[in-house]
Amino acid sequence: MWSSPHQRTQPREPDLADQRPEDRTRPGTSPSGRYASLVSGFRRLGILGGTFDPVHVGHLVAAVNARHELGLDQVLLVVANEPWQKVGNRPVTPAADRLALVEAAVEGVEGLESSGIEIERGGPSYTADTVAELEARWPGVELNLIVGADAAAGLGCWERIAEVRSKVVLVVVNRPGTTIDASGPDSPLVGWDVRMVEVPALEISSTDLRDRVASGRPLDFLVPMPAIHVIRERGLYPVSR
Ligand code: ATP
Ligand code: MG
Repeated sequence: MWSSPHQRTQPREPDLADQRPEDRTRPGTSPSGRYASLVSGFRRLGILGGTFDPVHVGHLVAAVNARHELGLDQVLLVVANEPWQKVGNRPVTPAADRLALVEAAVEGVEGLESSGIEIERGGPSYTADTVAELEARWPGVELNLIVGADAAAGLGCWERIAEVRSKVVLVVVNRPGTTIDASGPDSPLVGWDVRMVEVPALEISSTDLRDRVASGRPLDFLVPMPAIHVIRERGLYPVSR
């Protein structure tokens, strides 16, 4: 069997059957005991935050490839309650609908989980709060914050960014339309513990997908089929925005 430096040496899926009933929880969804990280066997967790309005294969390809390259036990797709950078610019689909889309999209996908942690907290969704909450729930687990290049370029204006920087490994994935200077003195990545992960370049955005639904164009193969069903059942994105 061949191996590469990026390959996971010891795949570690948490085995819920080995846990005490009170610890049978998922990191993104419900609080757990002090020793939850030990019980679960998690060592490295990925966090991919987003509005997911709607979720698409660009998000999923980024998540599974970051997981593979960095040997992450699990990647949480954390659905923003109030994406403070978008609120006011355009109507945002209710959080419960966006969470339902992500739940449908990750169903049965190994190593990916939806997370409603920001929705449960309510109010504006700041990554600093999410990281603090996950750190408290899963002490000792390495938190890997996954961002596309466009999001990485805007890190400077995030709330309490120094706090986030001190707690996470920043995982930057390429995204068509943005090139990011990873090393120069003016790079937005200066001071971060950064991993660059190359993923297949997919020119897909939720903005384009909302337009597609509104104008009756197909979503097939851009959005996982179970999530397309949720969009249809709930009549989401009737008009372009
Ligand atoms: P919108 O067009 O509404 O901004 P989006 O497609 O950018 O939607 P977001 O929910 O804003 O999706 O993105 C969440 C995270 O996923 C961000 O870090 C973003 O950079 C990343 N991401 C989104 N689409 C891609 C893609 N096609 N390739 C790589 N990363 C992506
Ligand atoms: Mg975006």
